[in-house]
Amino acid sequence: MHRSSTEVKGQGEPGFHFRNPSVGAACGWPENNSYGPATPGLRASPGFLSIPSWCRQARATEEACPPRPSPVEGEGVLRIPGLAAEAGLVHGFSTMALGSMRGPAPDGGPLTPARRAFAEVLGLDPGRLTAAGAVHGAEVARVEEPAGVVRGCDAVMTDRPGLPLLATFADCWPVLLYDPVRPAVALVHAGWRGSAAGIAVRAVAAMRREYGSSPADLVAGLGPGICARCYEVGEEVAGRFDAARARPAGDGRFRLDLEAVNRGQLEAAGLRPQRVHVHGACTRETAELASHRRAADGVRFACLVAIR
Ligand SMILES: [Zn+2]
Repeated sequence: MHRSSTEVKGQGEPGFHFRNPSVGAACGWPENNSYGPATPGLRASPGFLSIPSWCRQARATEEACPPRPSPVEGEGVLRIPGLAAEAGLVHGFSTMALGSMRGPAPDGGPLTPARRAFAEVLGLDPGRLTAAGAVHGAEVARVEEPAGVVRGCDAVMTDRPGLPLLATFADCWPVLLYDPVRPAVALVHAGWRGSAAGIAVRAVAAMRREYGSSPADLVAGLGPGICARCYEVGEEVAGRFDAARARPAGDGRFRLDLEAVNRGQLEAAGLRPQRVHVHGACTRETAELASHRRAADGVRFACLVAIR
């Protein structure tokens, strides 16, 4: 059953609302179909993307980076090594090898064939899958049993083992929060709107309140998402963020660094910097991942998380 009645409204704050969902979301901008320039500071995850010398050279001269080696791991799933090391956590990001993860299913539920296959690859029970019905907001929902699609929530969390949480992405940033002590887990969909509203911080606060999680115990995963070099926004969006996170790109445009925004929020919320792990791939620059700015075709990849 749905547990929307247990939705957490972010420390009693009113729900976050936005006026024009068609403008400025990472998943809602017009884009071209070419690959963007290379990403300065892109962190290669061990065993994942190493940046060859010819690519580094191109980056130094601000030329477009040549196509990168395929990041697809076995079974079409990517993982963040720092999270994969957590024995009590199951997580993964689907690649195009598993198809688009856009939902819902024709019956209105969360379980499309592609999502079923993804869950099975991770060894999770598809029938228990619960999806965040993301709306570029900042609501956090507590899930205690399979709840189908939790509508209107960009963050879902649970302390129940074997209850898979899913959210879909196409440039917005996944933020995973895992408390190995309680244990508990949260999955956040953070575009610019949610990031501006502090959805990651609200998820940390919700875990603290609902599960007694200490921020210092939390292990976080960020990405894959669109990188700062590829994510141009207008002044109306840039103005919502610290100037250091949205740097001028000329012609009244700005480059917004959602990774830095969310990392900064998590660290300010009390997470230890060494426990915030970044995947390192830019969605717009990685063909195996969906990117609205590279191709506005409605394709989505998904993140699945569960407590073992
Ligand atoms: Zn990029």
